[in-house]
Amino acid sequence: MSAELGLGLERLIGKRSASAIEKHLGITTVGGLLNYFPRRYLNRGELTPISELPLDEEVTLFARVLSSSTRKMHTRRGSITDVVITDDAASHGRPRLSAVGPGSGHGTLKITFFSGHRAQAQLLPGRRVMFSGKVTRYGASLGLTNPDFHLLDEDPDMPAMDPEKLAAMPIPVYPATAKLTSWSIQKVIATLLETVDLDALPDPLPEAVARREKFLPVAEAYRLIHRPESQADWMKAQERLRYQEALVLQAALARRRAQLAAEEATARRPAFDGLLAAFDRQLPFTLTGGQAAVGKTLATELAQDSPMNRLLQGEVGSGKTIVALRAMLQVVDAGGQAALLAPTEVLAAQHFESIRRTLGSLSRDPMLSADGLLGSLAEGAVQVTLLTGSMPTGARKRAMLDAASGAAGIVIGTHALLSDNVAFYDLGLIVVDEQHRFGVEQRDVLRSKANKPPHLLVMTATPIPRTVAMTVFGDLETSVLDELPAGRAPISTHVVGLAENPGWADRIWSRSREEIDAGHQVYVVCPRIGTDDDGDFSPGEAEPSAADLASDSGGRELASVTAVVEHLQQEAALTGVPLGPMHGRLDTAVKSAAMADFTANRTKLLVSTTVIEVGVDVHNATLMVILDADRFGISQLHQLRGRVGRGGLPGTCLLVTNLERGHPSRRRLDAVAATTDGFELSREDLKLRREGDILGASQSGGRSTLKLLRVLEHEDIIAQARQDAQEIVGSDPTLARHPRLAEAIDEYLNPEKEAFLERG
Ligand code: ADP
Ligand code: MG
Repeated sequence: MSAELGLGLERLIGKRSASAIEKHLGITTVGGLLNYFPRRYLNRGELTPISELPLDEEVTLFARVLSSSTRKMHTRRGSITDVVITDDAASHGRPRLSAVGPGSGHGTLKITFFSGHRAQAQLLPGRRVMFSGKVTRYGASLGLTNPDFHLLDEDPDMPAMDPEKLAAMPIPVYPATAKLTSWSIQKVIATLLETVDLDALPDPLPEAVARREKFLPVAEAYRLIHRPESQADWMKAQERLRYQEALVLQAALARRRAQLAAEEATARRPAFDGLLAAFDRQLPFTLTGGQAAVGKTLATELAQDSPMNRLLQGEVGSGKTIVALRAMLQVVDAGGQAALLAPTEVLAAQHFESIRRTLGSLSRDPMLSADGLLGSLAEGAVQVTLLTGSMPTGARKRAMLDAASGAAGIVIGTHALLSDNVAFYDLGLIVVDEQHRFGVEQRDVLRSKANKPPHLLVMTATPIPRTVAMTVFGDLETSVLDELPAGRAPISTHVVGLAENPGWADRIWSRSREEIDAGHQVYVVCPRIGTDDDGDFSPGEAEPSAADLASDSGGRELASVTAVVEHLQQEAALTGVPLGPMHGRLDTAVKSAAMADFTANRTKLLVSTTVIEVGVDVHNATLMVILDADRFGISQLHQLRGRVGRGGLPGTCLLVTNLERGHPSRRRLDAVAATTDGFELSREDLKLRREGDILGASQSGGRSTLKLLRVLEHEDIIAQARQDAQEIVGSDPTLARHPRLAEAIDEYLNPEKEAFLERG
């Protein structure tokens, strides 16, 4: 770490500022604060469109005071000052106190100060002011209470300068907190810029790259991103720092790729006439072109003595499991073991059942004789073993023994596979299903259970735009299955708005009945388990924000599995229909029984939480009803509906919502109903949710490290940086000749992330 960047802040900005910055922003070093970039820049002349302000978030806005009045409080001592502000710089008309909404032209906002003497004295009509606070809704109008403010026209903190120049100077707006306003952050950073020796900052960019791109010198970039004198200034500064960010990240990933590739793995060559060959002969269908092509790639990579590290992306239903199973069989043929890691117990159990079913006579039950060491090839069949945390102790011990002795050729399980006391005889391949639930750290724990670095296949059905794949899964090579097996019926999706059509509530159940009478089955998905829980959201998904949760339901109870089951048992349209609940809090045995009943078509209608989101495969299910569908993220909805229409029967998905047409959260539903193209949806998803979630939530659950980079917007930059990083690391795998880049990698990644990148 460079001396300058690693410095504590205290000496440079003073003790009080340093402790405020640490407390509210969690930043303790010079580098950290220099890299705390403005979120945007405001022009002194331009006011902030009030109708576009987000609710319930800390915002910074520029506005003009329209009117101000102060009155005494009746019941208590003190006064109330009401200030009306506008985003209309030219308006001289009467204040409009009415509701403001999108599209209503110029907006006004009412601000209330309790005993706000400074507000009363300073917020005079006509003045332009920067406010900072949380916008809330008062009935039909928007308002702010006791916000912090800062007069724009007479700014004592600005250096004396030519008024024209001052007018053109953009004002940086920093991501602020309730306790630390944008302008106090700005002041502290201004002090830092004056005290730190910017010219001593190391430049992580190779000179050739900086020259090629005509980037600003690094010191200049830091100065101008924080204190630009014009729009051109901050744009040029951002350009360099954004590319720098992309290169540092891509170099980190390229280095990890190089480290992984340099490791020595056991080659698992295909056998001439082993289990895989036998399996292919008995397959009841032909592989799709994509399955065959990816299968070939995997076969080749598994046969090499450097570890495969591959991400397999494929739409819901594209047949990833067969691809993975064939890879596992190749490894078993070569004398190794394969582990399949699933995100939930339900999914692990499903995989276990369906893989054993698919293998048919090629799968064998545990033998009681203790010759497990003979390996999985015994009798031309492989032992498939399930290992989950909630298995009875005896069965779990037995499964662990089989994994450790090598008797089990394929071990399927959940997180339980990660626990310390699980060992393998010779783990050759790890398959991680539905990656979005697993972090890189967990992948690494499993990797550490192999004698030599194992081959790794990560499968995800959540389609990932190319640049996200490059960024989040940049340490893996990517394959895509973009073709669905023939005979897959289309799913039609409809938004059912109960707000405009309350009568549809009944229609949903008679529609379900029609499906059941035709011999098919129905899923009903609810956002909660019971009426008193916090829902059964699965981690790592785009969840509705806290703001959504507060404002959407309007006090109405969200559909819960318990309540819906009770309701449906009384529902006339469903009289006599066997139905049952399914959720994560049921006992494992009950859960398995519920799934088995549904799979065997004994239950016709399953009321469930999102535990059925991934992987569950019941071909006879044709209708999915998602209640309070606005509670789910786009990719979650897309995953969920992939559970129907799997058996050649056309599927239908009803997205039921109580939200009014045009509500922002209904946009997600419209997007899902409009297309079944997962890649298009995931772009839509990224647009609708906050960028920061991408790295953080999908990986370690930590804070996103992306600052200036936006994975959708900056595809070209990311691609260029990836190519540059590849070249740099290709010629200098340990970055010995690029020490400043190596340092920047260490600094950029938080300690947690760095830990996994280093481990390799
Ligand atoms: P996903 O990619 O969503 O995990 P699965 O692997 O569960 O998809 O496959 C979905 C279904 O399609 C399974 O029932 C599987 O047996 C079937 N399937 C897979 N490949 C083919 C194929 N080439 N032709 C026909 N059916 C297939
Ligand atoms: Mg699957």
